[in-house]
Formats: sequence, structure tokens, C-alpha cells
Amino acid sequence: MNNNSNNSNCNSNNYNNYNNSNIIKKNIVNEIYSEGYKIAQYGVYMKKLKPYKTFKIPVDARCTCPNKDGNIDTKGCIFCPKMGRDIVPPYCNLKYSLKEQIETQLKHHKIKGLKKFYIYFYPATNTYGDLDKLKELWDFALSYKDVIGLSLGTRPDCLNGGVLDILEEYVKQGKEIWIDLGIQTMNQKTLDYLNRGHTVEDTENAIKNCKKRNIFVCGHIILGLPNEGWKNMMDTAYILGDLEIDALKIYPLLVLKNTELEQLYWKGKYRTLDKQQYVKLVCDFLERSSPYTIIQRILKDRAPKNIVISPKWNIGRLPLLNEISNELKKRGTKQGFYFNK
Ligand code: SF4
Repeated sequence: MNNNSNNSNCNSNNYNNYNNSNIIKKNIVNEIYSEGYKIAQYGVYMKKLKPYKTFKIPVDARCTCPNKDGNIDTKGCIFCPKMGRDIVPPYCNLKYSLKEQIETQLKHHKIKGLKKFYIYFYPATNTYGDLDKLKELWDFALSYKDVIGLSLGTRPDCLNGGVLDILEEYVKQGKEIWIDLGIQTMNQKTLDYLNRGHTVEDTENAIKNCKKRNIFVCGHIILGLPNEGWKNMMDTAYILGDLEIDALKIYPLLVLKNTELEQLYWKGKYRTLDKQQYVKLVCDFLERSSPYTIIQRILKDRAPKNIVISPKWNIGRLPLLNEISNELKKRGTKQGFYFNK
């Protein structure tokens, strides 16, 4: 059964209409800024929010993607070689069953003092496919007593009413549900160029429908996409802020082997951002984002060297975060500085 239609619409901003527990706590974010942070950093926010340490355990549940399996297209997005399966931590791997992936990682992280966990269904589109099977996977992940919620990596056109009904039910049972939404950009021309196979309207509906049901949304954004100018990227920041998206992961575009983007790169039709350009763009983007959007990441994990064509400058997340914070300090601004101005 395929569930790639969007049949649940919400045209209202009346979010969180039955329960206020699953919203970003603005008082905590304000506290973060008052301590001198320039960015509403996820790690800092979570430390203040929860009395225990949490961790997201990435798992591969063998899902596919409608943009690769022929439902929408077979080519996929021009930057995606293996539905995300090329940049994964060791135990997020189809060599292992879901049970093995969860239990091995739970054990590993509990030894390190982490107490509560989210299971992050990561590669491919994890809300696409047979609903009963998906529910079985999610029920299984949530059956572990130290698992407090799920993160589901997916596309904006794969969050239909049936999927959201199941997820909303978990929320009502006290679980925290996050949708890790592949947005990339809010510019339709760029989405078409990337062969994403969905629309900006799908993204808007996905965010609104999730928020209406108290499901958190973390949008994944790529800076430096082909043909995108500075204004396109900043428009994406403003639009997502207006939609009150809960969190963002921001990445530079990577050229990976065996992708259409790699062909464009070798033909000289696409160039990646250097580190300085990326730092500047992330700062510009954050200044125009909502101050209350939690920033989960500004860089991917290091991809295996043999598959990354460009850029080669991945310096690690913490050093990059420091550079970005220092740049904002130098500018005398912070996240949200130009939002609503
Ligand atoms: S939607 Fe995601 S998994 Fe599917 S082709 Fe695009 S990037 Fe890859």
C-alpha cells in the first residue's frame, strides 16, 4: 500500500489545540540567549528541558523512497545516491535486524550515562509504505522502556492522514514524535531542478498538519543548492519561521559519487561552498530564522572520504558551531535578529 498523498489539510494557525506539552518552550530559549548563546542550540535546550540525558538512536528499517522506487520517479534527487545509506553510523545498518540495531546502541549509550532515547528511523522515507507494517515498526521501537519518542525521516508528500493519525495517537499516549522533514528549500524552481518530485505547498501542508497534531517538525535545509541565490535561501528562512517550524538541521550541499550532481560538478556546472562562504551563509540564514526554532545541526556526520567529491573541508560540528557563533558575535547579531524586521 502506498501512502504518498497528502489528504489532511490545515489552513489554520490554531496549533496545539488539545495539549500544550509538545511545543518549544520559549522561556527556555530566552534563557539560552540571556546566557550569551547566539543560537538556540538543541543540546543546550535539551539539557535545560529534561532532567536526564537523551540521545537519538539511528536505525535503518529497510524503507524505500517513492522518488527512487518508481512511484514518483526512479532517479531520485540529484544529490542522493543511496537514500542516505552511505552516511550512517556503524549500527544503523541493514546487516542487523531492527532489534539488534536498537539493543546494541541502547547498551552502548547507556554505559556512557545516557538515560532516555528517541529511535530515529533515518535512511530513505520512513512514513512511506504499508501503514500496518510501519505501525508495527514504530510500536516495536516504542516498546523499550527507555525510549521516549520517535524521529521519522521523511518527505513532505508522504505524511497522509493515516500516518498522522497513528503518530497523533502516540503523542496522546505521552510519546514525543518528531518528523525529520526533508525540505531542502522553499523555492519551487530549485525543488524541480533537484528532481525532488514534491511541491512547496506539500511542505507547508506537512508542517501545518504535524503542528496541528502536536507532532514536532525538524526541517532539513541545504544551503548552496544549484541556481539558488542569497535571496532564495533567506526567503526559505523567513517562510519556515512564519510557519513556526520547531527545529532545523542546516547542511552544505555535498557532491557524492554516483549522483547526477557529480556529473554537473565535473562539467563545471556546479561548485560547492567553501567553509567561509558556508559560515557566512549559515549566519545570514540564522539571523533571518525565527529565534524560537531549535537548531539541531549545522553539519552532517563525516561521510566516508571515498564517496565525497566535494567539499573536503568538514572540520567537525563543534569547531564549525564555534566559528558560526563567533561570526554572529562579531556582527553583533544572533539567531532571529532580522526575523520579522
Ligand atoms: S527523497 Fe530523500 S531518500 Fe528519496 S531520493 Fe530524495 S534525498 Fe533520496
